[in-house]
Amino acid sequence: MTDRLLHFVQHPFGRRVARWFNLPQPVPLTRRQDAWVEEELIGRPVLAIAPGSSAPLPSLLAAIVAQGGTPSGDGPVRTLVIDATGCRDVAALRALFEQSQLAMVRLAPGGRVLALTSAGVMSAAEAACLHAVQGFVRALAKEVGRRGATANALVLQEGAASMESLAGALRFFGTDRAAYVSGQVLSWRKDVDPSLARSLDEGRAPVAVVTGAAGGIGAATARRLALDGMRVLCVDVPAARQPLEALAREIGGSLLAADLTAPGAVDELVDAVRRLHGVDVLVHNAGITRDRTLARMSASEWDAVMAVNLSAILAIDARLDEAGLLNAGAREICLSSISGIAGNAGQSNYSASKAALIGYVGARAATLDEHGGTINAVAPGFIETAMTRRMPLMVREAGRRLNALKQGGTPADVAEAIAFLASPGAHPLTGQVLRVCGQSLLGA
Ligand code: NAD
Repeated sequence: MTDRLLHFVQHPFGRRVARWFNLPQPVPLTRRQDAWVEEELIGRPVLAIAPGSSAPLPSLLAAIVAQGGTPSGDGPVRTLVIDATGCRDVAALRALFEQSQLAMVRLAPGGRVLALTSAGVMSAAEAACLHAVQGFVRALAKEVGRRGATANALVLQEGAASMESLAGALRFFGTDRAAYVSGQVLSWRKDVDPSLARSLDEGRAPVAVVTGAAGGIGAATARRLALDGMRVLCVDVPAARQPLEALAREIGGSLLAADLTAPGAVDELVDAVRRLHGVDVLVHNAGITRDRTLARMSASEWDAVMAVNLSAILAIDARLDEAGLLNAGAREICLSSISGIAGNAGQSNYSASKAALIGYVGARAATLDEHGGTINAVAPGFIETAMTRRMPLMVREAGRRLNALKQGGTPADVAEAIAFLASPGAHPLTGQVLRVCGQSLLGA
């Protein structure tokens, strides 16, 4: 779907008009959506600052080098890493303000800011100051968004500051792969057993299952995972067989045309997974809306949304667990939504189902962890797909602009986040919600 305003304000006349009428002026985002490479920061001038410490963590500097980053010198900065693990008193926060202010002048349009803070045992005063960094980053994200830049923060858990672990963080949050991810604060744990996570890399092509793969976010995800060398099983309703077949052919994958809420469909899916010798990356993407205010919502509208968005996922996982078909180191990703975080009028069924998935990934993380796997939710904001195309014009336009980047995301932006969660470098993230929403104001 075309974002006419985004194109209009790229011309001087359009910009003048936008200024007169006080309209948003989104800038085109710089995106990377190819397969992962060894050195993701290659060609990116990087600046690392460490307010509150004498120098950035040596492991952070090593991670930047390992990812191919080059020091920015006095020139423009495309990736700014703020090692704020030393921001434990008010004087250090003052240094955060001063050093970031100087660095910001050099941040290139479309630049990335990644801040690192700490968790673990500390005094209440230290906890307060470290937490201050989160508010700082969220505010900064809103300021730099108008230049197409983003800012995110990771809270490093005990032992998470190793070179390998930080390289994993940088390859997504420090690059153009995270173009529509901003204002996020995530917990980054110690990489408990990288050897299991690495099983994804070894020998055979990993198997991915993507439900709802016929279009929108699902199709983009299937394509993106195939780019990373995965054999993708594409699942969607029988009515979508044609696009499903075309997609499976295009990416060299296989397909299952089944309505996941129909009797026997979960068995069919489990049999297909068994034939592929288990699944390494499971993406629960199929989802529907049946919007109506609670007073007018029919029981069938409630049931339909719950059946696809929640019950089918629970049933698939239960059967895969029972059959032992989630391979060691498996990655599971559930598509939640900003509506599940903020709630949305006319979507009590949808918001409930998407909030349920947030509770689900938090509770199920321990089960996946037993075999070196992870489970996370991805919560898209306004993404340009068939689902958002069906919105009334004014609601659609508001949804598109109510974020720090003043534009909608693309299915490929969400697919990129899913590919990250499926990659070995993302093993430290589990049980969490990664929002791909351009720092939506909803639920912020
Ligand atoms: P979409 O409608 O374009 O695609 C969803 C796919 O799921 C369709 O191909 C559909 O046929 C399939 N599906 C529906 N019911 C199914 C069933 N019973 N069995 C098998 N397949 C079924 O939607 P999208 O915009 O690409 O969204 C994908 C996911 O992301 C959904 O879970 C959605 O709730 C979530 N999401 C989307 C947005 C957005 O802005 N587009 C925002 C937040 C969350």
